Amino acid sequence: MGRVVVAGSINMDVVATAERHPRIGETVAGHSVMYFPGGKGANQAVSAAKLGAPTSLIGRLGRDAFGEQLRAFLASQGIDLTAVKDSAGAATGTALITLAKADNTIVVIPGANAEVSPEDVAQVALTASDVAVSQFEIPQATIVAFFRQARAAGATTILNPAPASAFDSALFALIDVLVLNETELGFLTGIALGDTPTLPQVSDAVRALDPRDDQTVCVTLGARGAVAVTGSKARLVEGRAVTAVDTTGAGDCFVGALAARLSQGAPIADAIGYANIAASISVQRMGAGPSMPTAEEVGALL
Ligand code: ATP
Repeated sequence: MGRVVVAGSINMDVVATAERHPRIGETVAGHSVMYFPGGKGANQAVSAAKLGAPTSLIGRLGRDAFGEQLRAFLASQGIDLTAVKDSAGAATGTALITLAKADNTIVVIPGANAEVSPEDVAQVALTASDVAVSQFEIPQATIVAFFRQARAAGATTILNPAPASAFDSALFALIDVLVLNETELGFLTGIALGDTPTLPQVSDAVRALDPRDDQTVCVTLGARGAVAVTGSKARLVEGRAVTAVDTTGAGDCFVGALAARLSQGAPIADAIGYANIAASISVQRMGAGPSMPTAEEVGALL
């Protein structure tokens, strides 16, 4: 059995609720302020660790109160933080979210996440049974270095290209499994899929990315589940009929669960089915980190 090694972002999400958003120059009194551990890298590591996979995180925190709180939280989830360094000059990544009724505005300050470097990833030795995971909230040059190192060791690489951004030219060739949602697929291909795309529409859009036959592209479709394309084969993994209360972090839960299952030696088709079940559990609970399921909960539905 291998490890899941995530190189990615760690943020504190600061959520203020108010009756309405302030206009420019205006101050409004809010109702509450809440602090949630976040960042795609941290969320995906929490997902994998809660499912029982030995999990390491490579990232950076500022030398500040949020950094201390996040380090304590991630350690409490059983994640190996040996490769989470403190940045002397940068603040811990912070997302400032204002929520008024159902509408939110978000300002994300990457802070220390922007300093995760190729030297940082070089500190972690990978083996052939490990799964290396990353997303687009750290510099792409660092992801390229991380995936080169992973492939040289024979490890499996998973990229979740979120938030949507253009690829570094060297990166695509280094990916074994690409996991993205419809918006990210639309951004990368210029193909808008609409609300209820058919399996052929999704697989045609995936082929516009021109993947190799040994790469798998997995498109998550919210409540409809996910489509996996490998070579000429495309398969729909149907979403589970559940009552969703909060889909925040569903994509991160999916990626972490996929990595956890692959690190246990499961074939890709089995791992995608497992991730679909895990993510369907997470949407039935509030929050990102706290909503991630345990291996027992997923196992009961296999
Ligand atoms: P987010 O940005 O909110 O984390 P995302 O857009 O990256 O999400 P989605 O495609 O919305 O990711 O969801 C990821 C996976 O979560 C889906 O493939 C599915 O397995 C599961 N999922 C999401 N919403 C639902 C739902 N309403 N019912 C059942 N499963 C769901």
